[in-house]
Amino acid sequence: MATIGFVGLGNMGLPMALNLVKAGHDVVGHDLSDKQLATLSEAGGRRASGLDDIATCEVIVSMLPAGKHVAQIYGGEEGLIKKVKTGTLLIDSSTIDVATARTIAGEAAGAGLDMVDAPVSGGVGGAQAGTLTFMVGGPEAAFEKAKPFLEVMGAKIVHAGDAGTGQAAKICNNMLLAISMIGVSEAFSLARKLGLSDQKFFDIASTSSGQCWSMTSYCPVPGPVPASPANRDYAPGFATDMMLKDLRLAKDAAQSVKAKTDLGDQSLALYAALSEDGYGGLDFSGVFKRINGDI
Ligand code: NAD
Repeated sequence: MATIGFVGLGNMGLPMALNLVKAGHDVVGHDLSDKQLATLSEAGGRRASGLDDIATCEVIVSMLPAGKHVAQIYGGEEGLIKKVKTGTLLIDSSTIDVATARTIAGEAAGAGLDMVDAPVSGGVGGAQAGTLTFMVGGPEAAFEKAKPFLEVMGAKIVHAGDAGTGQAAKICNNMLLAISMIGVSEAFSLARKLGLSDQKFFDIASTSSGQCWSMTSYCPVPGPVPASPANRDYAPGFATDMMLKDLRLAKDAAQSVKAKTDLGDQSLALYAALSEDGYGGLDFSGVFKRINGDI
């Protein structure tokens, strides 16, 4: 069993850290929130006295909001890369921009440390159940070292390639998810207005060529898929503001490599408008309500 420093005990990080505790690891947590640290301690983890305490751990996992937080924790003179001992494994599971992920990975490699970017799919439910999908970027040796720890928190661990490719996979997937959710929403709205019931259109399209995850697992209208957020007035799930964050990352990445992502850009504009109008907390499938003219 390892001593694991866990930085960022938020909605995702806390349940992930608790799964590491349950697996018998000695988990030392660091967060700005006292409440989150208290919950970790009550569950058998420990509270770090600060980043210096985290730096003494054999493995460090981070689950932070954005690239600037990751750069601050790992990089610079006061960052973990300068403080940890040789052989420490660094796993950043935050969803951040590819450029920052590659810069930090480069600094870690320069210091002789194993590091992977390992963003996740599966949301808070997946974090609690230990069924997350990890998309991992980094050298093969670092991936193999990280895998046993990721397996405690996830059900599917995929090595995407070199440093930054985990983040690349994550934002490309989520850009596609936004586009497909908008497409499914437009189709259901049009079908309704043409006189089809939601259930009838679902029965037909879900076994036809328009079938996709946004329809069959996360249907944006109430009824056909009982577990989807549409059945609880679009309570998240995966909030509009979270989707917006990932679409912004995708747009920045697309611009940096001159990739053409017209539908990604349009999706970004639609989710940005929803957020500006005060619907940032609505599940991202709530875009159906905007498309249907309900909000
Ligand atoms: P969150 O805001 O709930 O948690 C972030 C935590 O980081 C907070 O507890 C905050 O106090 C802590 N933090 C911020 N700056 C810190 C610092 N300098 N030092 C220590 N702690 C610090 O966010 P979340 O929903 O847990 O998401 C975390 C990451 O996971 C994000 O990058 C997000 O995009 C990604 N993600 C989230 C979901 C989801 O459904 N929530 C799904 C997939 C990926």
